[in-house]
Amino acid sequence: MILSDRHTHTTFSDGQNTPEEMVQAAIEQGAACIGISDHSYVPFDPGYCMDPDKHKEYIATIAALKEQYKEKIDVQCGVEQDLDSETPTDDYDYVIGSVHYLNCKGDHVPVDLSPEILRNAAKKYFHGDFYSLAESYYSRVAKLADKHPDIVGHFDLIRKFNKRGDLFDPSNRRYRRAWKTAADKLLAAGCVFEINTSPLRRSQSEPYPSMEIINYLKSRGAKFVLSSDAHRAEDVCREFGAFEFFIQ
Ligand SMILES: [Zn+2]
Ligand SMILES: [Zn+2]
Repeated sequence: MILSDRHTHTTFSDGQNTPEEMVQAAIEQGAACIGISDHSYVPFDPGYCMDPDKHKEYIATIAALKEQYKEKIDVQCGVEQDLDSETPTDDYDYVIGSVHYLNCKGDHVPVDLSPEILRNAAKKYFHGDFYSLAESYYSRVAKLADKHPDIVGHFDLIRKFNKRGDLFDPSNRRYRRAWKTAADKLLAAGCVFEINTSPLRRSQSEPYPSMEIINYLKSRGAKFVLSSDAHRAEDVCREFGAFEFFIQ
């Protein structure tokens, strides 16, 4: 297998290391390709994403690293484009399309910050019905198909705080129908899915998407890429070993 990691974050958004440190970490891991994919700008939550003023510097920095390290590794310049982000993507080698927020009557509710935020959103906007919330989330994931990203990011991020099943039951019929509807739309659009290993660093047993979803996608001919969603150099290409089978 050719080792490649194209979902990584740097100090240009919410990562802890510079692009060069991430490139060097990938070389140490023996990777043939590293893609930097910092968060695109969203106006309602500027704290974690890339400042539009930094866009040119970002492109130039990655281009310089591509040249500097070309004998050792293929460096690519990507972006993790949130569904609600309207920044242009023409300058990037590739785009990861991701959903990080529910849109509840204009209120952008992050799905990956805390279980309390999700519980409150379920109460406030979905009559306490978490399956309605999940249906809303997956209807937004399905919308990624219209944007034709190269890679679909963390398909079931909504699962992040459901480690012990205290928010919802993943075998619930409505939950399954919600993700299958989104998966089918993305499959029909020819999207590639990432197998995102970041949950394994938080002592969860399954990546994004869950093994059930990976197997469903695989049975329908989906293509996968492995990615770490690393926000630190030490996490580049981490936990890839168990999933190499799925990307062949
Ligand atoms: Zn993300
Ligand atoms: Zn990410």
